[in-house]
Amino acid sequence: MIKTNKKGSLVVISGPSGCGKDTVCNKLLDIKDNVWISISCTSRKPREGEIEGKHYYFLSKDDFEKKIKEDYFLEYACYNDCYYGTPKEHIKKHLDNGEDVILIIEVQGALKIKHLIKEALFIFILPPSMKELKERLINRGTETEDKILKRFETAYKEINELNKYNYVVVNDDINETALKIASILKAEKCRVDRIEEIYLDNIEEKMHETLMNKKFINKDIEI
Ligand code: 5GP
Repeated sequence: MIKTNKKGSLVVISGPSGCGKDTVCNKLLDIKDNVWISISCTSRKPREGEIEGKHYYFLSKDDFEKKIKEDYFLEYACYNDCYYGTPKEHIKKHLDNGEDVILIIEVQGALKIKHLIKEALFIFILPPSMKELKERLINRGTETEDKILKRFETAYKEINELNKYNYVVVNDDINETALKIASILKAEKCRVDRIEEIYLDNIEEKMHETLMNKKFINKDIEI
């Protein structure tokens, strides 16, 4: 009776550094099928424990710029003096496969996607408070005080762009936040603009016929 577009959604997830985006998205992988998280390239140096090809593809600044010229990225941005970019390859394949493709990217990149792909979905993750964000950045222990301060300043600017997103989720509990995002992804599949065809051939005629013959209860309707 109804045929809908079965492709995955392109989902952009942003939020200030330290709000827990990566942890929430990894939790999402545990609780929901058909989700694929894109791995970005960056010119930032790896932090302790970060693995090439798992957390990022780490490139030199020169190599990153070379890839920009080759049109390798769907979007890229310069964030706190380092490049970050989403490789174009693989995205279409995963979407066509019915998987939701997640891009965990900062706001400038998200706005570029918004111009490029009108059907993309935008989710912003907020920390429970700025006090907690500051504590999380400090406790992470991966950055110098200067860099933490810069990330904290950037957080204020990013939160100002919140109204350009479709959904906002406050991350006060990882499991709950991942569940909320899973629900948003499920709801997306029910959007009216996913309908490709509705088969209601001759509906009035068939209704009239079944009603006139008083066969409504016992007769199968073919609509
Ligand atoms: P971090 O250095 O903490 O790993 O990342 C800094 C910021 O860059 C985060 O907000 C992260 O989501 C964002 N980011 C990661 N990958 C990309 C990307 O491919 N494109 C853009 N525009 N931002 C990214």
